[in-house]
Amino acid sequence: MDWATLMHRVWGWDVLGCPRCGGRSQFIAVITQRAVIERILTHVGLSAARIVAAPARHFDDTS
Ligand SMILES: [Zn+2]
Repeated sequence: MDWATLMHRVWGWDVLGCPRCGGRSQFIAVITQRAVIERILTHVGLSAARIVAAPARHFDDTS
């Protein structure tokens, strides 16, 4: 079972649906190398300074 199907099944999230146009995104790759991520972000005009390795957080859905 793919990641998007799991997210929909467990949380009810449509992670491949575009909230702006209603179109469908396609999963094409997983990029884990920081240098590659920074190069892509810089190429599209975004700051690579946003990349922060943060620890996992506790999820609380009671609010
Ligand atoms: Zn869209």
